[in-house]
Amino acid sequence: MIDRIFQLFATRGSEAYFGEAVSQEEHALQTAFLAEQGGAEDSLIVAALLHDVGHLLHGLPENIAAQGIDSRHEEAGEAWLTQYFGPEVTEPVRLHVTAKRYLCAVEPEYLATLSPASLESLYLQGGPMSPEEVATFESNRLFREAVALRRWDDAAKEVGLEVPGLEHYRTRLEGALRC
Ligand code: FE
Repeated sequence: MIDRIFQLFATRGSEAYFGEAVSQEEHALQTAFLAEQGGAEDSLIVAALLHDVGHLLHGLPENIAAQGIDSRHEEAGEAWLTQYFGPEVTEPVRLHVTAKRYLCAVEPEYLATLSPASLESLYLQGGPMSPEEVATFESNRLFREAVALRRWDDAAKEVGLEVPGLEHYRTRLEGALRC
């Protein structure tokens, strides 16, 4: 299973991370590293590493958002990860796009920090949440984890940043696997 994940990165990980100057694999590794630096639990570090695995699974072109299409990669990723991991991994992955809509609603200054590509996809994803949606989101027991993941995701776009590779996460991945 772990080798399957690494294989996915080996074959698709060098593709560009939409609208940013880093690759999918660089983005995943930076997100995981920020989670580790932030003192996250192992399951959340695993979620950070795999949060965009949906992009590696589907065959859609990388500039799909620019064509006005929401690839719903968070759902594809969650569906695939559910085969192997429990909700502590899959829920933050499923919610990491929704968390952006949440943050845009509760932190006006957050919206101003989004990159052009992220802003473009925000509107495809439904724009900032309504107060009702905010309340529903906060009722999820893992919403804080999803928000934390979102912030690392946003920051993980630094060109040329030296971070540990995939192997660094093998033990955590194994530990998070559903028996
Ligand atoms: Fe991401």
